[in-house]
Amino acid sequence: MKITIAGAGAMGSRFGLMLHNAGHEVVLVDGWKDHVEAIQKEGLKANFNGEEVIVKLPALLQSEVTESATSDLIILFTKAMQLEKMLNDLKPVIHEKTKVLCLLNGIGHEEVIEQFVPKENIFIGNTMWTAGMEGPGRVKLFGSGTVALKNLVDTDDAKKGALEIVEVLNSAGLNANYSENILYAIYKKACVNGTMNGLCTILLSNMYEFGSTTDAHMIVENIVKEFAEVAKNENIEINVSEIVEYIESNCYNCKTIGLHYPSMYQDLNKNNRLTEIDYINGAVVRKGEKYGVPTPYCAFLTALVHCKEQILGAK
Ligand code: NAD
Repeated sequence: MKITIAGAGAMGSRFGLMLHNAGHEVVLVDGWKDHVEAIQKEGLKANFNGEEVIVKLPALLQSEVTESATSDLIILFTKAMQLEKMLNDLKPVIHEKTKVLCLLNGIGHEEVIEQFVPKENIFIGNTMWTAGMEGPGRVKLFGSGTVALKNLVDTDDAKKGALEIVEVLNSAGLNANYSENILYAIYKKACVNGTMNGLCTILLSNMYEFGSTTDAHMIVENIVKEFAEVAKNENIEINVSEIVEYIESNCYNCKTIGLHYPSMYQDLNKNNRLTEIDYINGAVVRKGEKYGVPTPYCAFLTALVHCKEQILGAK
């Protein structure tokens, strides 16, 4: 299958590399000039579960995409704030039959994608795979993961399309599943990111350090309650105590995983990059305004992260 990876950072490179290794015709499209040029010159370099690999595959700057790069499937892996520009740059390659899969963290991306792609060609999901950027042209890919996805509209054709994408991802060992309950899964992951990411970023802590504080449970519970109230207005039932317990046992009370500094911490505090807060807690605030649901915890956390982005001059 001809596959375009739109946003070839850490995760896009992982999916691109694995799909290429499985024999698919993969093109990487990205906006970071140094990264694209490094891949064009020397290939994509990866530490792949401890083994150094170099994969030669085409890479294009998104501003230079032309119709010749048309593909059957586009997998979106930008950061959330880069999504709209990417889709705009991809206009020449998005055709009537191009399927578009979104695996970004956060909620509500379909509202942006719908402006560029017919709804029946949009597929949404999330992934438990991880990846890290080590510099232009170089990524670190460790461990294993899964993908869950579903068609946005409920037609037989769209479901068939989703099952085809599942098959393609599985041909590359990406452990994909069709998930009837994908909106719940997306919200559940957003609850994890909406608590651990912003809080550890502001508090300069890893998840375990945060979890050891007396107020951790109260803060997490209040944030998850806001996600749940908003989700209820979209007919998604979130059991607050179940999700809080999940976050406690899988993130901040866990002595191994808890030592991890969430990706937002690393993006902002280590790499001085803007965060996806507007598409996680910020999205809950916007949806809360629309549905008449108060979201003071999410609003405060979003504002704090923005303050920190500005103080650090993040880009
Ligand atoms: P990333 O930051 O590695 O890449 C996103 C974009 O930013 C790419 O276009 C990349 O080229 C660019 N970029 C990266 N470093 C840059 C730099 N120093 N200068 C200029 N541009 C740079 O993002 P990612 O980790 O691949 O995440 C993509 C999406 O997947 C996000 O929504 C993220 O939340 C989600 N996600 C990430 C992981 C993970 O482990 N990394 C896991 C699950 C979901």
